Amino acid sequence: MAGRLNAKVIMAKCSKTRKAYGIRIEQRGGDWVRTWAFPIDERKAKREGFDANTVSGSMEPVDGYPGCPHCGNIGFVQCGCEKIGCAGGVQDYGDSAEYTCPWCGEEIELQAADGFDVSGGNL
Ligand SMILES: [Zn+2]
Ligand SMILES: [Zn+2]
Repeated sequence: MAGRLNAKVIMAKCSKTRKAYGIRIEQRGGDWVRTWAFPIDERKAKREGFDANTVSGSMEPVDGYPGCPHCGNIGFVQCGCEKIGCAGGVQDYGDSAEYTCPWCGEEIELQAADGFDVSGGNL
């Protein structure tokens, strides 16, 4: 691979099990993509400073991205608190869906009209 690789790890939590995990993201062509996910101890992640990393972008998963290590869901939701959770705990009601942030407990209503996509969307 040519060039310098710009990659970092951001913290996420499984919205189904509320366990923490890390998402490895990599900058490609001005956007961030998700390349890997792994379970992580929350205290260790804080020590490493992972919880301070933030990112903006579409964060599309690359081919082979394993999804949430706790429930296998590929998608994620970003809450108003800026923390990320997997979409595994999303309650899908058809034309709307509900997500409870595993970080702050906030309930978010997701609208299908907003382009909500459980399998790979973001908010
Ligand atoms: Zn999960
Ligand atoms: Zn939140």
